[in-house]
Amino acid sequence: MTTPIVIVGAGFSGAVVARQLAEAGIASTVIDQRGHVAGNAHTERNDNGVMVHVYGPHIFHTAHEDVWEYINRFGEMVPYNHRVKATYSGRVYSLPVNLLTINQFFGRTLSPVEAEAFIREQADDSIGTPVTFEDQALKFVGRDLYEAFFKGYTQKQWGLSPTELPASILARLPVRFNYEDSYFNHPHQAIPRDGYTPIVEGMLDHPLIGVVLGRAVTADDLAGAEHVFWTGPIDEYFRHAHGRLGYRTLDFAAEELTGDFQGCPVMNYCDPDVPFTRITEHKHFAPWESHDATVIYREYSRLAGEDDIPYYPIRLVKEKEQLLRYVEAAREARGVTFLGRLGTYRYLDMDVTIKEALDASRTFLECRASGAAMPSFTVDPL
Ligand code: UDP
Repeated sequence: MTTPIVIVGAGFSGAVVARQLAEAGIASTVIDQRGHVAGNAHTERNDNGVMVHVYGPHIFHTAHEDVWEYINRFGEMVPYNHRVKATYSGRVYSLPVNLLTINQFFGRTLSPVEAEAFIREQADDSIGTPVTFEDQALKFVGRDLYEAFFKGYTQKQWGLSPTELPASILARLPVRFNYEDSYFNHPHQAIPRDGYTPIVEGMLDHPLIGVVLGRAVTADDLAGAEHVFWTGPIDEYFRHAHGRLGYRTLDFAAEELTGDFQGCPVMNYCDPDVPFTRITEHKHFAPWESHDATVIYREYSRLAGEDDIPYYPIRLVKEKEQLLRYVEAAREARGVTFLGRLGTYRYLDMDVTIKEALDASRTFLECRASGAAMPSFTVDPL
């Protein structure tokens, strides 16, 4: 099947663009090399009926009302409040760092005001605008909490010292001086009742959308296209002309057991000598269900090789220089737009992915109506 619009990748980015174009009367073909849609958000029930987040846990959270309304069109989102625990040096703590963590860790009974003053004493206020992950941690939580909860975990997750990583990675996590232990601050937090894959299938279920799964995109696919939306790795589009962009990948050691293994969905392991970063227990991502069987994943992080699934873009100095070259090449290319986590090489949450795909679709329809050229990016990836 040939259509004027080819969309590479059937994750959230590709599916949203296909849907928005279809609703405007424009046909497209979505091609994904995997045998399923939804990218790394793919979920499937195992033989015991437990919903497994095959590529690791995905929790939907957003402050964008339009994105929230959009995803709700395609399936039932069940409210879910994500809570994470951490094991460090033989004890269990509450995360993200909150008043319970502070009181547990320091053996105190501090009030919110006292805790704030106490942490301010620990914090390094000689640091102005934090540049590195370590600066950010020392400035906001001080050395003791940093060394317990962030240093070892981050070293394992990124394979690099926190002194080499940007502050922005830690800025994802809040520090609270109350007992609120919800992992995210967003007003909408939910997980789809039937998993993410049916949501994406629902987006793609339209007579103007053709879906091709289980094969890589070919030059012929692209050659005949009026426009290409590329949501795969940007360096792959350019055949790695400027080298491979670095990613961290994850290995999951899965175990099927019975009963309740850890009593919570995610237990982080912050000690540097524990080789995995966290254990996820998937049935706890669907607390409205009840199963005797359980599935746990021990998560190990490492540098992605050529054939590994890319998860986290590294985006350090070297990668940013490479990225700049790819972005320059992309800006010169015509007839292709790059989007999504892999297409723009950014650490994106699902809601931002959807928002950017909605924006890109809108821009495309406006350009088409006015005869303007569709840009290579609708966000700045640098
Ligand atoms: N992090 C940490 N200790 C923890 C949890 C997170 O040091 O117990 C750091 C780590 O560097 C991680 C980052 O904070 O990459 C962001 O954490 P988040 O939970 O958002 O990561 P994700 O769930 O996306 O892997």
